[in-house]
Amino acid sequence: MKSELSVNFNNSFAALSKDFYVKMHPEAMPDLKLIKFNEPLSDLLGLPSKQLLEQSGIDFLGGKKILNNQEPLAQVYAGHQFGNFVPQLGDGRAMLLGEVIGKDGTRCDIQLKGSGKTPFSRMGDGRSGLGPVLREYIVSEAMFTLGIPTTRALAALFTGETVVREFPVPGAILARVAKSHLRIGTFEYFARRGQANKVKELADYVIDRHYSDIKKGPKKYCMLLEKVIRNQAFLIAKWMSVGFIHGVMNTDNMTLSGETIDFGPCAFMDHFDFDRVYSSIDLQGRYKFSNQPYIAVWNLTRLAESLLPLIDEDQATAIKEAENLLEIFLPLFTDHWINLIGKKLAIKEPKTHDKALIENLFKNMQTGNSDFTLTFRNLRNLLKKSQESKWFSLFSNPKNPELQNWSKIWKNRIELNDSTKAAITQRINNNNPAIIPRNHLIEQCISSSLKGDLSRFHRLIKALELPFTDQAEFYDLTKPPEENEIVYQTFCGT
Ligand code: AMP
Ligand code: MG
Repeated sequence: MKSELSVNFNNSFAALSKDFYVKMHPEAMPDLKLIKFNEPLSDLLGLPSKQLLEQSGIDFLGGKKILNNQEPLAQVYAGHQFGNFVPQLGDGRAMLLGEVIGKDGTRCDIQLKGSGKTPFSRMGDGRSGLGPVLREYIVSEAMFTLGIPTTRALAALFTGETVVREFPVPGAILARVAKSHLRIGTFEYFARRGQANKVKELADYVIDRHYSDIKKGPKKYCMLLEKVIRNQAFLIAKWMSVGFIHGVMNTDNMTLSGETIDFGPCAFMDHFDFDRVYSSIDLQGRYKFSNQPYIAVWNLTRLAESLLPLIDEDQATAIKEAENLLEIFLPLFTDHWINLIGKKLAIKEPKTHDKALIENLFKNMQTGNSDFTLTFRNLRNLLKKSQESKWFSLFSNPKNPELQNWSKIWKNRIELNDSTKAAITQRINNNNPAIIPRNHLIEQCISSSLKGDLSRFHRLIKALELPFTDQAEFYDLTKPPEENEIVYQTFCGT
């Protein structure tokens, strides 16, 4: 006899006061079918994986079957979009199914994206097309295997509907998992409305949920700001260390937990350019690659403004304290950057003075238009005279004296490690992925999936499970795009 589907929900957000959400059910989609189920993640969350593969489980994953202990809800938030404040955004095409405590003890949200209209949908249809769901599945899981804090993909499903975008496309839902979906914009919503008691309720909730070690501290709201600043500094450095451009760093897309969220017009660069922008709507380059740390500070300043009344009763004192904290971001980011890129260069213990070596490499990458991922992964070629030319040929002008000079300085620096070549190669391999989800590959996955062939999508997901391993069978997926394959723009994830 089949046992009833049961999931151990343990909801905490739904217990906050009612201003934080609208409790409601997702729209029942006509014909839910699984595209991809992330069984290891499901197991980690302690979900009944086998049952979730049956139709009742699939209906649960798509929000059609609601269990007795569920309280699904749409969360409210505001946010600065491209610098302009929007007083109310909220889950317009998303819904929180509930929270579970994973096997590692971490409380996680299970949220649906594309599950239908909510009171926050404004002019939108509350739905997602297949493309953005596949994109988020691929990129968020790649971020995870690359070791970058991120929301994750639990399942992708067809809804059985057709949604109209530029042309009609299959409707889809992504079930995603996050430490929480609370954003800087969640604070802004209440702060801008002058609801100081709600700002406090939210701050206490965030501290309880994500930063319980500061709960009993004397200046816990200051420390909350500091924690978020520190997590964001690390996150942005991690993104940039793999050439990732988020594309839409609005305050509603920045989490308080320090996870990457909302993979809309994001992309990993192929050929290096400090000023690379992919998003079709980012006309000024606000969210370009090299601007990301400065935008993070801008966003964190909006968070600090929201928290001011909690930081100190005296506004001038509160501002001073917040400013002091915000000032730690850029030096902290630079420390992470030197450490991460230094490690990518196989330096055992990167030091502040390695900054020049790092900066000179990026200058050469910029003038030589070299592929970000291969420039680092193929550094191992420089260790063998017979292979050296392979590395130089990644650059448009391999004979450039500055580039040649850089390679000599790097080799000298590496020798200071006093390691064997095998150890250096190992360090290069461990710190530099062979494969990233290149934009042209994602586009190819999406376009063949729209024609009914999901095999490219499944193959890319498989290849990205082991990004630091040389996998001969996936060699074609490690190559930069040919001229005619380059994708210059990405679009918002609706
Ligand atoms: P995003 O730019 O994807 O972070 O979304 C910004 C806001 O627009 C959020 O409040 C979303 O819920 C909302 N939104 C985006 N797409 C849709 C849609 N298709 N239907 C309803 N709301 C949407
Ligand atoms: Mg968003």
